[in-house]
Amino acid sequence: MEKLQLTLAIIKPHAVKNPVALSYIRNVIKNRFVVVKTKRVSLDKESAGKFYKEHMQKFFFNRLVTFMTSGSIDIHIIGHSNAIELWRRMLGPTKVYKAQFQDPYCLRGMFGISDTRNVAHGSDSLTSAEREIKFFFPEFSFYNWHTVEEVRYRKGPIIFNDYLFQHVRKL
Ligand code: GDP
Repeated sequence: MEKLQLTLAIIKPHAVKNPVALSYIRNVIKNRFVVVKTKRVSLDKESAGKFYKEHMQKFFFNRLVTFMTSGSIDIHIIGHSNAIELWRRMLGPTKVYKAQFQDPYCLRGMFGISDTRNVAHGSDSLTSAEREIKFFFPEFSFYNWHTVEEVRYRKGPIIFNDYLFQHVRKL
């Protein structure tokens, strides 16, 4: 099995509030990825603005920040040999109408409501995955991941802890 690559997945507020969407998305995540960390947070406007700072000049920036602070979001560090690309492929196109048209069974096609409320986020490169993981999990050590944890998750045995919504090592 190839080395596990990490990416950051964020389930956006409207999907966290929708039990059907959330349980479908959670099943997909736990079946296709190793779930390394999970937490539920509520962002304030300052943090949401910082997270999306590259979009500061865009017309949708204010509505994006308002939306992302409108309820809890679920944040997951997930691993797979091709995590970044696989998760983005499962999300589908950013724009929901395009998603519904091009790939109706992608997560954004199925559960997206608008271009802002497009279900979930996925890092788009190794550099942004690292920045985004550090943003939400400042205590996460990439050094420890690469030297110790990665091989443990890859070779197992691991089991899924439903309460934590995380894979953990089987003792
Ligand atoms: P992503 O990587 O697919 O999430 O897309 P981007 O990084 O380009 O945009 C970040 C987020 O901003 C998206 O997930 C959407 O929530 C929002 N967004 C992007 N483009 C648009 C747009 O044209 N209109 C609106 N309303 N929101 C957008």
